[in-house]
Amino acid sequence: MAMRIVSGIQPTGNLHLGNYLGAIRNWVRMQDEMPADGECLFFLADLHAITVHNDPVLLAANIREMAATIIACGIDPTRAILFRQAHVPAHTELCWLLNGTARIGWLNRMTQFKEKSGKNREGASVGLFAYPVLQAADVLLYQATHVPVGEDQKQHLELARDIATKFNADTGSDLFTLPEPIIPPAAARIMSLRDGTAKMSKSDPSDASRIALTDDADTIAAKIRKAKSDADALPATVAELADRPEARNLVGIYAALAGVTPDQVLATHAGKGFGAFKPALAELAVETLSPIRARLETFRADPAELDRLLADGAARARTLAAPTLASAYAALGL
Ligand code: ATP
Ligand code: MG
Repeated sequence: MAMRIVSGIQPTGNLHLGNYLGAIRNWVRMQDEMPADGECLFFLADLHAITVHNDPVLLAANIREMAATIIACGIDPTRAILFRQAHVPAHTELCWLLNGTARIGWLNRMTQFKEKSGKNREGASVGLFAYPVLQAADVLLYQATHVPVGEDQKQHLELARDIATKFNADTGSDLFTLPEPIIPPAAARIMSLRDGTAKMSKSDPSDASRIALTDDADTIAAKIRKAKSDADALPATVAELADRPEARNLVGIYAALAGVTPDQVLATHAGKGFGAFKPALAELAVETLSPIRARLETFRADPAELDRLLADGAARARTLAAPTLASAYAALGL
């Protein structure tokens, strides 16, 4: 069977270097490494976004921002299929069919619901509880062979496989492909520029803590210049950075941007202080992010083109989804 990867991301604004190096760049790599007979489907999980408090105006803006960013970062919508989940009603339809298969006991075991609902379990939306069933529909709909999962998503993929197995058994069919997990290649974890022990995050109140993908060259250079570091020179190995979280983070960012290991960065920069290392890092960051920012500006100026690309992606996704959805209705006697 040809390889088919399906992956979704929640639409958010305010995207930063951590989102690029830790998430979006992995999509670009999967796209670039996909054999010619395979297919990558990437979607904006806008139906998932409404399971928690939702601001419709903000959501609409974030969807466009996220789509523009993904393309600007290197997803080619003529090769990968990039679309909005809400534009392919088959996701919602299959989710309902699978709600007949999924067991309440299975969902009760999902740790992410427990974390996200916290003490307010009774006040959480039904959508938040049933979210993993929609995720199962997202991948089963396309007969995905592989799904990239981080640590926090392993349980949901296991659930999708359980749902597929039970549906196939209950209907005496072999309708759904059981998707295999792909553990993304050591995704870089980028830390705050102000605190080497906290993750770089869009919700950090300090703008200086993160490099936004919309920052211009001067802003990037200034943020790196002011980034927290220390007075010592860089050592020859990462092991010696164990007690220097800020230094380790800056070396890690350099390594992720350059596509090398932190030890390789240190091999060329050992002995330098941050007075010399920071400008080198800034130059590399600007070199990587400037073309992304330029493409992002192009889409900002032409939202109609962005909408056209997303509509095209949705049309292709609907075509791929149609036979599986029809078979699922038929298998249930509907
Ligand atoms: P929030 O603070 O609201 O959680 P965030 O900045 O963590 O926002 P998310 O929308 O939660 O961003 O994450 C989107 C994707 O980017 C996820 O795949 C997540 O793992 C990845 N990601 C987020 N922050 C980082 C980071 N600092 N380093 C590496 N990957 C990251
Ligand atoms: Mg997060």
